[in-house]
Amino acid sequence: MPTVKMEKQKRIALIAHDNKKQDLIDWVRVNKEILYTHFLCGTGTTARLISEKCNLPVKAFKSGPMGGDVKIGSKIADGDIDIMIFFWDPLTVQPHDPDVKALLRLAVMYDITVAMNRATADFVINSGFMSHEYCRKITGYKSPVKFGEVL
Ligand code: PGA
Repeated sequence: MPTVKMEKQKRIALIAHDNKKQDLIDWVRVNKEILYTHFLCGTGTTARLISEKCNLPVKAFKSGPMGGDVKIGSKIADGDIDIMIFFWDPLTVQPHDPDVKALLRLAVMYDITVAMNRATADFVINSGFMSHEYCRKITGYKSPVKFGEVL
């Protein structure tokens, strides 16, 4: 199974749906000292808010509904993201729900560390692996039908 090495300095994607943005900002404030030692990126509005409110450098992609989630999914597929902190809203329908689903699928496929609520994010940020290298294992796609095979 192919592996990808995570360096000590992790590449962390931050995303929060609108009703969860304040929760993520609060969490980032509490964990600012640790997060400062890693590379941060995020969907447009989330990244801008965290930069402004927490005074941390966060590379901003497009806003989630405008393709930001898909962009982060493609960064995961390229091996450019190690950890995703994604506080999604379980009580509100999102216009870009298919994009969210695709993003979560890629995160599992590429063995990204994903936290979708505060408790999990707390466990992730306090993990010993945060300051060590770690090898992720990529799930390989195997077609159930071989080329030329007659069903
Ligand atoms: P936003 O996107 O940070 O641009 O609001 C988040 C999302 O809904 O995916």
